[in-house]
Amino acid sequence: MIRVMVCGAYGKMGREVLKAVNSDPELSLVGAMDIKSDFADAGSLIGVDKIGVIVGNDLQTVINETKPQVMVEFTAPDSVMPNIRLAMKNGVSPVIGTTGLVAADVKEIEELCKQYCISALIAPNFSVGAILMMLFAAEAAKYLPNVEIIELHHDQKLDAPSGTALRTAELIVANRGEKKQGHPDEVEKLVGARGADYAGIRMHSVRLPGYVAHQEVIFGGVGQTLTIRHDSISRESFMPGVVLACKRVLSLDGLVHGLEHLLITKQ
Ligand code: NAP
Repeated sequence: MIRVMVCGAYGKMGREVLKAVNSDPELSLVGAMDIKSDFADAGSLIGVDKIGVIVGNDLQTVINETKPQVMVEFTAPDSVMPNIRLAMKNGVSPVIGTTGLVAADVKEIEELCKQYCISALIAPNFSVGAILMMLFAAEAAKYLPNVEIIELHHDQKLDAPSGTALRTAELIVANRGEKKQGHPDEVEKLVGARGADYAGIRMHSVRLPGYVAHQEVIFGGVGQTLTIRHDSISRESFMPGVVLACKRVLSLDGLVHGLEHLLITKQ
């Protein structure tokens, strides 16, 4: 049994992870932590009876008391790096779902893996459908290099563009390079009208109540468009990926960025 703790346990994703880990026969939910914890039993967060896991509010204490091997991290862009540094210093492998990491953070996690001789996984998106969307988009960009990304999320999301949109853009750029798109003399009458610019790809972030996590990658060619769209209509969509990551992270070599690497080696 792999000993797992959940960081951000009171959150929307944290609660789903508590449920998924607690019900998997190969994983043992040993600990949970959230800064706003009132020391509830984790069972009360997932609608079951007491399960004997008290949600702590101090990460070092929870690690000392519960000795996890893996920490699943779903908190916030400002919290994720301090939590990961502390976990890795204590020899705990992180499975990182929080988005908003920048290139320097990824580099630092890679270095921490070497320093402490442990492994880690970053997945900007844990749902299989979203990973396929990213892979299909990267492939399509070889043939239709003019592309824009629209991502749509609930209005409580803190970072924009989403981690999935950024990862999609990275994968597209790896296949088609940087490219100036649109009319060279175009003018924004309102600042931001054309969205963010990643190597020429325009990215648009919609934030509204009612959405969970959605993305369209739209390609344009002469007389045609191609739209690749993925919708996570519930947070359960991420859980098979999170559970797979918990089971595989300890046997990885250093840092793995993207759940696609686990799915591909699994086949
Ligand atoms: P959420 O509902 O706001 O939950 C985050 C929880 O973490 C909150 O309870 C928050 O407390 C707590 N927290 C904040 N700082 C903390 C710290 N230093 N230590 C421990 N707990 C802390 O957010 P969410 O919707 O679950 O999303 C969490 C992250 O996952 C976001 O970055 C989101 O973009 C990402 N996400 C990733 C995927 C994926 O597939 N990779 C899918 C969905 C979401 P407060 O409310 O008091 O701040």
